[in-house]
Amino acid sequence: MDEFSFIDSIKQNTYHQPSLIKGIGDDAAVFRQPTDDIVTAVDTFVEGVHFTRDTMPAYYIGYKALAANLSDLAAMGAKPVFYLVSITIPRKWTEQELTLVYSGMKTLAEAYQMDLIGGDTVSGDTFVLSITVIGYVKRNQARFRDQARPGDVVFVTGTLGDSQAGLHLLLNGGNYTDRAYYINRHQQPTPRVTFALGLTGLSRLALNDVSDGIANEAAEIAEASGVSVVLKEKNIPVHESFNLFPQMFQEKWKYFGGEDYELIGTVAPQDYQHIKKVAAKNKLRVSKMGYIKSNRSNKNTVFLETDHTRFILNKHGYTHLK
Ligand code: ADP
Ligand code: MG
Repeated sequence: MDEFSFIDSIKQNTYHQPSLIKGIGDDAAVFRQPTDDIVTAVDTFVEGVHFTRDTMPAYYIGYKALAANLSDLAAMGAKPVFYLVSITIPRKWTEQELTLVYSGMKTLAEAYQMDLIGGDTVSGDTFVLSITVIGYVKRNQARFRDQARPGDVVFVTGTLGDSQAGLHLLLNGGNYTDRAYYINRHQQPTPRVTFALGLTGLSRLALNDVSDGIANEAAEIAEASGVSVVLKEKNIPVHESFNLFPQMFQEKWKYFGGEDYELIGTVAPQDYQHIKKVAAKNKLRVSKMGYIKSNRSNKNTVFLETDHTRFILNKHGYTHLK
């Protein structure tokens, strides 16, 4: 199949978004937005670096790549509307596999009425999928990481470490409790878009998505806001069978694992009730995981508190407090 018929095969026949003026088929796409702020992000997935074909069938490559991008929009409080796809195709990839990559993206896009409005197609030695997403947010309502204040509640949606548990099961096989659940969380994560959109009423909210593990995401909030974060070990939410994995893996995956695409946020204590309400409405678990404190001896630090002691949680490990 040549490039022209390939593009024709992935092109939508109709578009959902009324703000779209020109979709696929000209030199560039055109949309018009008179009222909202426009939020945009791009993420790139390289075969052999970000995924391998053994653990990620073609359909899931597309699904997960778009999910990662939508998670970024969710973390900004934005409503997804458009996406563009730049793809580098090695010779050995079949037409059918490419179609599956696109149908993975399409499944997720349809759920939010997003339109595919453009992209680029090139051939190369390595498969690369780069997705640009565009979302809208009410003027001045985008959610930033610098909004955490001392006394805030730190919350997180869902459970942590599941994606890495799933990858472990894919790589090591074996019959494990909830095997299908963990593998699905690795291959088909759900970006928390609807939950984030439900939080528009809050006057102040810091938000970040869990792409690299909460140690890292909490540190990003701490640094951006100039505060410290205290996380309580016993309040870190994990799936019910997670404690069947070796202790060492549990720790590694839940703090540093990443790719869970949950949302971590901070709000004033009186606003946490609203967070719980919106989560319940979305049938989504939410956990109060810790709190924000002002910087004192340690600047922009993430602490992990157990019943007996307090550690500094670095981006990739712990340090004992003297
Ligand atoms: P140009 O030479 O003007 O860049 P292209 O042939 O690359 O045009 O693209 C033609 C149209 O198809 C454009 O609207 C472009 O955005 C779209 N397009 C090209 N490749 C892809 C792709 N992989 N996914 C989605 N849209 C694509
Ligand atoms: Mg082009």
